[in-house]
Amino acid sequence: MGIQPVKLLEHSDICDVCHVPIPDLAEALTTEREDRVLSFCSQDCYKKYIEDPAVYTDFEDEKTSDQ
Ligand SMILES: [Zn+2]
Repeated sequence: MGIQPVKLLEHSDICDVCHVPIPDLAEALTTEREDRVLSFCSQDCYKKYIEDPAVYTDFEDEKTSDQ
């Protein structure tokens, strides 16, 4: 098996902050966190992420006890 080409669109096309589909990936903002690529539909969403990244990247955190 050879080396797989990197997929251009390997990141999600859903905004990781507001969870709406990103219509034009060329205009999406992306950033890497650990092994994930996060996508944002706009500068506003990107700023929200920067202000409090943990809120939007709890995908592999320990479970929070909600009781
Ligand atoms: Zn968004």
